[in-house]
Amino acid sequence: MAKRDYYEVLGVERGATEAELKKAYRRLATKYHPDRNPDNKEAEEKFKEANEAYEILSDADKRAAYDRYGHAGVDPNMGGGAGAGGFAGGNFSDIFGDVFSDFFGGGGRSSRNGPQRGSDLRYNIELTLEEAVRGTTQTIKIPVAVVCKSCDGSGAKKGTSPTTCATCNGVGQVRMQQGFFAVQQECPRCHGTGQMITDPCNSCHGHGHVEENKTLSVKIPAGVDNGDRIRLAGEGEAGAKGGPAGDLYVVVHVKRHEIFERDGSNLHCEVPINFADAALGGEIEVPTLDGRVKLKIPEGTQTGKMFRLRGKGVKPVRSSTVGDLLCRAVIETPVKLDKRQRELLEEFRSTLKGNNGNSPRASGWFEGMKRFFNDL
Ligand SMILES: [Zn+2]
Ligand SMILES: [Zn+2]
Repeated sequence: MAKRDYYEVLGVERGATEAELKKAYRRLATKYHPDRNPDNKEAEEKFKEANEAYEILSDADKRAAYDRYGHAGVDPNMGGGAGAGGFAGGNFSDIFGDVFSDFFGGGGRSSRNGPQRGSDLRYNIELTLEEAVRGTTQTIKIPVAVVCKSCDGSGAKKGTSPTTCATCNGVGQVRMQQGFFAVQQECPRCHGTGQMITDPCNSCHGHGHVEENKTLSVKIPAGVDNGDRIRLAGEGEAGAKGGPAGDLYVVVHVKRHEIFERDGSNLHCEVPINFADAALGGEIEVPTLDGRVKLKIPEGTQTGKMFRLRGKGVKPVRSSTVGDLLCRAVIETPVKLDKRQRELLEEFRSTLKGNNGNSPRASGWFEGMKRFFNDL
């Protein structure tokens, strides 16, 4: 089935702001949320579709790629998140945590009394181009909620234990009559936990978890690129009531490089060439990520000419082939000439007069200009 346009899916204009996207997404996600539409295949599809559209359009890079190339620019099967495949699920909760935390109360959505899985966390890591290309191991510090050691996560002071909430009898939900409707609502007294802590733990003030800075060593594989994600299973937020911890997603951001610009597996750079070398031909040094290499310049080299250095690009994470380095020649006009250089150039200029053969581009340009004026 052909994919629908992401803007159409969310029902927004192409120029929609972030806030408009978020609003449109929330509306759809609320409407088609699986909790509200149990066993409804169509709703599930719509929900997934909205998720995907929002995931792409809420990410400036991906949105730009989508605007330019359509679905092909952001196809999750054509490279994107690191460790492809296994990511879909995590990705999902990633967005979920962000948009819904203030909305579903941040906790589990169905059974608040049972074990709850901890939230997934996202950590943005900045890498230099060299680090991204070669791979690196980075130490990161992340604030995470960990189970409080004083009370083992119960939230109750040592020696005491939580009591069952009398308002909801431990269910966590109460029925409220609103006009004709009876609505299930979170119990206002225990906030859905079903339990009351009469004597809160001093370390965590009854929350059951405390915030700690966790130091982690993250191995970044060689070849990662902007937007790639590395999943560290179980390194997210601690679960509650014996539930498993969430995952940590380390999202790669590559800093701008002074010389190189990366495009997939290829690297691009501009190489200034002095006009004598460009005219006469010669050998120049060009930078690569592994150091300098010599490059032969043929005589008559013009600005814009591309030199391809095979295998001097990047080997992406999920590819076995190394890309190329593409150097674009930029011919440089000499400045601050001394007397001797000026004389030589004056003499050289006099030889150029009336000789269009020395300037292939200019002669073409003058021809065009002549035609332009004759046609006026
Ligand atoms: Zn209650
Ligand atoms: Zn505690």
